[in-house]
Amino acid sequence: MFDKILIANRGEIALRVIRACREMGIQSVAVHSTADADAMHVRMADESVCIGPPSGTHSYLSIPAIISACEITGAQAIHPGYGFLSENANFVQIVEDHGLTFIGPTAEHIRVMGDKITAKDTMKDLGVPCVPGSDGGVPDLETAKKIGEDIGYPVIIKATAGGGGRGMKVAKTAADMEQAFMTARAEGKAAFGNDEVYIEKYLTTPRHIEIQVFGDGKGKAVHLGERDCSLQRRHQKVFEEAPGPCITPEERARIGKTCAEAVAKINYIGAGTIEFLYEKGEFYFIEMNTRLQVEHPVTESIFGVDLVREQIRVAEGLPMSFSQDDLEINGHSIEVRINAEKLPNFSPCPGRITQYHAPGGLGVRMDSALYDGYSIPPYYDSLIGKLIVHGRDRPEALARLSRALGELIVDGVDTTVPLFHALLEEKDINTGEYNIHWLEHWLETNLGNA
Ligand code: ADP
Repeated sequence: MFDKILIANRGEIALRVIRACREMGIQSVAVHSTADADAMHVRMADESVCIGPPSGTHSYLSIPAIISACEITGAQAIHPGYGFLSENANFVQIVEDHGLTFIGPTAEHIRVMGDKITAKDTMKDLGVPCVPGSDGGVPDLETAKKIGEDIGYPVIIKATAGGGGRGMKVAKTAADMEQAFMTARAEGKAAFGNDEVYIEKYLTTPRHIEIQVFGDGKGKAVHLGERDCSLQRRHQKVFEEAPGPCITPEERARIGKTCAEAVAKINYIGAGTIEFLYEKGEFYFIEMNTRLQVEHPVTESIFGVDLVREQIRVAEGLPMSFSQDDLEINGHSIEVRINAEKLPNFSPCPGRITQYHAPGGLGVRMDSALYDGYSIPPYYDSLIGKLIVHGRDRPEALARLSRALGELIVDGVDTTVPLFHALLEEKDINTGEYNIHWLEHWLETNLGNA
């Protein structure tokens, strides 16, 4: 059993992990930059260590500082949250070399899934359906044009090392290929230090459906259904729900089984998400995230499980506390991401919170590190809270979301809350008829946002 866990993260996800630790009787260690000395995760943890200056590169991404913090405090394991070092195979290796436990998958699994071409090849071999496209990397423009002709336009050119919606360019016709190919390459090089790209058929009306999987590292794995994360702006999710409004129980059982079997075969350990595009009843694998996702609470809500607790358990070598047969969907859950951003352009809006009131009541969960008087620093992600609701069915969850958004008070900075009030008035949101392009069109029409 771990006595003490260090959380290599900040904000709401650090609180999320501290909460799981406390319920399990495990001491928690927060790390923080000088800009976060007054942050809620520092206040809530049992101990805290300052690991560097404001810039993420020199604090939350500083491997030596984090390992030292473990040594100083005697923490035996590290939970990485999401973002920062959560999918850094080199970090996992160093953690293990220091005799510490990384709460997450192995360095090898992270490496395989972090390279999108290798990930796709691996998944194909494991029987997971993929988007048609190039066989691996595309070396030059001439080959790219040939592949475009073969699979048919539109196509999407993606950086092998890409992530967070960067390094992707669409070529609608052959005439766009040169520009798209060169830009995707340049973005991959600039953002990830790798200019390798590959090509996929561009699906025009898909939904983003992702399957939550969980493995014990010993060949046993389960799936916890899907999340529909189709409402996106610039490939970034803003509204997520589970179960997916368009997925039938048969489809869920089939794709869930394929995913659980795939990760069982590779002895995957901990939480993982297999992302698909879904169009006309078919699933197409796009990537696997080897960590806890931002939107994990919607899955927790409908299955009544604590995924962080489960991550800690399997990292300790304990068996999973549930089997596939124990997992039954109860009701419907929706999450909205509340960012400190100013509409219509979503420009970051850091600053001092003059008043904060979290919504409550039946079926409402607010994961946030805000408090009255807190100053949101300008150095990090603009996510300041996740409002998660649960209802007996989708209409009840939507009504509850509207009610909870009405109770929420965040004064002092602009937030994305007005966007959700407006979306809840839309027929398509209420009927669940939207795809990955819906929100961009809506923003253009309603906010003049390009
Ligand atoms: P990232 O790693 O940057 O998140 P993903 O490969 O997961 O990139 O893709 C992110 C989003 O980009 C998807 O949710 C979808 O909206 C869009 N996308 C990716 N691949 C395709 C495709 N082949 N066709 C249409 N849209 C795509």
